[in-house]
Amino acid sequence: MIVIKSPDEIKRIREAGRIIGKVFEKVKDFIEPGMATAEIDGIVQSVIEKSGGRPAFKGYKGFPASACISINEEVVHGFPGPRKIRLGDIVGVDVGVEYKGYFADATITFPVGKISKQAVSLMDVTQKALMAGIEKCVVGNRLSDISHAIQVTAEGAGYSVVRDFVGHGVGLNLHEDPQIPNYGFPNSGPRLKAGMVFAIEPMVNLGGYRVKVLENGWTVVTLDGSLSAHFEHTVAITPEGPEILTLW
Ligand code: MG
Repeated sequence: MIVIKSPDEIKRIREAGRIIGKVFEKVKDFIEPGMATAEIDGIVQSVIEKSGGRPAFKGYKGFPASACISINEEVVHGFPGPRKIRLGDIVGVDVGVEYKGYFADATITFPVGKISKQAVSLMDVTQKALMAGIEKCVVGNRLSDISHAIQVTAEGAGYSVVRDFVGHGVGLNLHEDPQIPNYGFPNSGPRLKAGMVFAIEPMVNLGGYRVKVLENGWTVVTLDGSLSAHFEHTVAITPEGPEILTLW
């Protein structure tokens, strides 16, 4: 069941989203070659806690950290740890925040110094795919219109979209119905209504769409070892159109 949120509830989700915006500003200022992913996680945790929030990922199904940090061929659910980021890497930082009982979820893939032209293009297309999906978050559209817009944007540029992981409803919990695949035919699934809140999160690969999970049981990597980028926003559907609640 897709839970409809009141304007007051959306306001509270927006407050959680603002904390994520602050997290990303701080990470952007501090991220540099030689930094361990655990240090980035520490920054994420401290900004969230200083803002009165709680890192929503920590302890979620046993996840040990505040952020998922996924480098290069890692798609999602990278474990923060001793691995050091290097010049030219692309680093996905996925953050969930609970604030006063409401949840927001967002991801940025950060470039570390100068990155390859291919990486620039992959990140650019992934952001465009996200925005194309968000533009479909309009009352009266259907759920798969979002999925389709993401897929055609990514594949139109010659890349592929990950199929095994999806976007989701969010707000009263970290993960709610519906699941929002990043691919599919348009004009199917439920009609979109005002008060629905979605985490839309295309994961786009330079090579094929297939992925595998590493032995830690969490970290997802591309099967062919190609680069992957990930961008995510929490978005409310309103009578006036889509509203991004996790502005960075
Ligand atoms: Mg998410």
